[in-house]
Amino acid sequence: MTKAVPLFIVISLVAIGIWFFLVRPDDVERTIAEPETTAALPLGPKLSSLASTPNWSKLEAFQNHVTREEFEHDLTEIFGLPQSWENSLAIENDAVWVKHHQGPDSGESKIAFATSELTPTPLPPLSEMHIAIDPGHIGGDFAHLEQRNFQPFPDDDGQVPIREGDLTLATAHLLKPLLEELGAQVSLVRDQPEPVTTQRTADFLPHFPDRLMAEKIFYRTAEIRARAELVNQQLQPDLVLCLHYNADAWNDPADPWAARNHFHILLNGAYLPGEVALDDQRFEMLRHLFTRSTSRALPLAQTISDVFLRETNLVPYHYSPTASATQLDSARPIYARNLLANRLYQAPTIYLEPYVMNHRDTYDRVQMGDYEGVRDFRGQPVRSLVREYAETIQQAFREHFPSPTS
Ligand SMILES: [Zn+2]
Repeated sequence: MTKAVPLFIVISLVAIGIWFFLVRPDDVERTIAEPETTAALPLGPKLSSLASTPNWSKLEAFQNHVTREEFEHDLTEIFGLPQSWENSLAIENDAVWVKHHQGPDSGESKIAFATSELTPTPLPPLSEMHIAIDPGHIGGDFAHLEQRNFQPFPDDDGQVPIREGDLTLATAHLLKPLLEELGAQVSLVRDQPEPVTTQRTADFLPHFPDRLMAEKIFYRTAEIRARAELVNQQLQPDLVLCLHYNADAWNDPADPWAARNHFHILLNGAYLPGEVALDDQRFEMLRHLFTRSTSRALPLAQTISDVFLRETNLVPYHYSPTASATQLDSARPIYARNLLANRLYQAPTIYLEPYVMNHRDTYDRVQMGDYEGVRDFRGQPVRSLVREYAETIQQAFREHFPSPTS
């Protein structure tokens, strides 16, 4: 499948690889970049790593879908950071013009605004809802490669390494029956500590100048793109729950511990100027805007946030005001950010970031393993970490959706 690669793909891969490393790796735990100020469209198609040119005709489905007021509100309050869209969108009274790219063969789509407001459709009741659970990262033998393996005591053979991909998978296996119990249909995006993509680092080595770059293209970009294809083409859920565990910097061997054990939720939005300037990201941003995916996910995200902060010892996490994130709820730690996963999944997507893996509480609770009921932890009865995560989500769903009348 990957043996004969046309030259233009090789050149594109190298170019986007350089962009990928220099400009923006897609993940939560990266350093937050200062907002960029250059939003000029490139000449000709310009795409993210491994992206295809968008099929712009798909925007035609959104003719007369949102009013001008709704469009401008969502663009400024959710999706676009300042100075991000001015060179690629032209908003008129009755329509928005969307540039496909800049240059002599540039096309444009004109999407007419609706004349009367339609509130975003709420998520369906649980008895009619198909939920895809995406256990973040890969774990297992891949945990070192994806830099999601925390072992602060190298001399302690008995310690359980903290592997985000294993923790999210264990949580997902516990959460699936809990949501099914409430009436939902539930699919796991992966059910093994294995990649979803069939590609590996070796497939990208010929196209990237350095091994680290090829590795990241495998475990992050190709992997999330493979998951998105599974979610969008096969599963077609009503909602995606991306399960993650968070981490603060753990590079200092003398003091790898995080000060606060915090919690936040991410929904899609807050596109940087350099991201809106990429054809595929501009297209995905508009698809999310027109389908109101973030607005549709927000009420449930609010309930999940309230229940987590009530039922666990986690404290709210807040981004700095200069971060490329937009707070969507002034009272809760719910932010819009443009991540590869929450951009590519077309359904409303709630991306959870509870528990800081290198906080001492999280570390010590992972050492206790999974167990039923409660055990003493620093004088308090606590559930196992993964069960507390899964059961807290179940509790939020129970509170958010009225119980079926039967
Ligand atoms: Zn993660």
